[in-house]
Amino acid sequence: MVAVSFEGIGKVYDDGTTAVVGLDLAVEEGEFLVLVGPSGCGKSTTLRMLAGLEDVSEGVIRIGGAVVNDLPARARGLGMVFQSYALYPHMSVEDNLTFGLRMKPKAERPDSEELKKMVQETSSMLGIDDILEKRPRDLSGGQRQRVALGRALIRRPKVLLMDEPLSNLDAKLRNQMRLELRRLHDELGTTTIYVTHDQIEAMTLADRIAVMKDGVLQQHCPPLEAYHKPANPFVASFLGTPPMNLIEGNADGGVFSSGSLSISLPDHLSEIGGKGTFGIRPESVKVLKDGGVEANLSGVERLGSETIFHLEVEGIAIKALWHRSGEDAEDGESGDWPEGKMQISFNDPSAVWFAQ
Ligand code: ADP
Repeated sequence: MVAVSFEGIGKVYDDGTTAVVGLDLAVEEGEFLVLVGPSGCGKSTTLRMLAGLEDVSEGVIRIGGAVVNDLPARARGLGMVFQSYALYPHMSVEDNLTFGLRMKPKAERPDSEELKKMVQETSSMLGIDDILEKRPRDLSGGQRQRVALGRALIRRPKVLLMDEPLSNLDAKLRNQMRLELRRLHDELGTTTIYVTHDQIEAMTLADRIAVMKDGVLQQHCPPLEAYHKPANPFVASFLGTPPMNLIEGNADGGVFSSGSLSISLPDHLSEIGGKGTFGIRPESVKVLKDGGVEANLSGVERLGSETIFHLEVEGIAIKALWHRSGEDAEDGESGDWPEGKMQISFNDPSAVWFAQ
C-alpha cells in the first residue's frame, strides 16, 4: 500500500528560486526511502512540504491516500527528526519525550499511566532508560540524537521524517547510529523518509533511494540497482567512491574511441554505436601485469585494504581501485611500477553506456 505520494509536486520560493520540479514519487508502507543528492538539490524542501512546514506551489501530496496540501503540520500524523535536535534545554529527557503528547487536546492526551508506559517502551528501544532524568546539556551527541528520535517515535507516527539526522555526529558515532537506525526500522517497520547528501548513508540505510539533482528526480530504485545500472551520468558519478570513470567518445563495431584512446568494448556493449559516454567503475578497471592498455601512473593512494591508482591514458584521467585480497596482495601495495607505467583493462561486464 502507498503511504505517501508526491504527484506533480513543484516548489518555487517567494524570491523566485525553483527548488523542486515535477516530482512524482510514491513511498510504500513500511519502506525506508532515502532522498539523496548534493546540497541545494531540493531534498529538504521536499521533506518540508510533506511535513506541512512549507507550502506546495504545484501538485498534490497524499498521506495514506488523503490529500494533505492544506492540512496543518500537526494534523498529518508525522514524526520528525532534524539535524538540530531542537530539544528543550530546561526539560529532562523524559519531559522532552512526552512534551508533544502532553500538549495534545485533552481528548487525545494519554493519561499518566499510558504516558509512563510509552516512555518505558521508547526509552528501552533506544537504550536511554538510564538518562531519563538528565537534561540535554548533560548528554553526549549520540544520546541527544537518540532522545530526538525517541521524541518522534513515542507518538507512533504513521511516517517518520528525518533530515540529515546524523550530520552533527563524529564519523564513528555516525556509523554506529546508522546501523541502529536500520535495526530500529526493521523492528518497527515505520514508513521512513530520510534526507541526506551522504551517498554512503543512503546506500546503507535505504530500501530505495531517490536521487535528486537541481530539483529534479533522477532515479528511484534499490541502492545497488542505482549503483550498477545508473540512469544517467549524474547518478553514475554521484554514487561510489571514487566516482565512476566517465569517458566521452564514440562507439562503433565493438570498439570505443575517445581521441587516440581505443578500447574493445565488453560483450554486453558490443552492439552500441554513435556518440555517448562510456562509464566504468574504478574497481572494474583491472590492473594487469601485461596485455592491457598502457597507462601512465600519476599518483597512488594506499589506504591499507585498498589502493587507488590515478592513471592517465592518452590524455584521459582514469582511476583504478584495487582491493587487497589474499594472493595478489603484493601487487597493489608495492610501489614498483617500472617507469610509472601500468597496463589496465576496461573489459568489464558492469561497464555502462549512456548514449548522447
Ligand atoms: P537540499 O535539502 O537538497 O540541500 P533545499 O531543499 O534546502 O536543498 O534547497 C533547494 C533550493 O531552494 C536551493 O537553491 C535553496 O537555496 C533554495 N531554498 C531553500 N529554502 C529557501 C527559502 N526559504 N527561500 C528561498 N530559497 C530557498
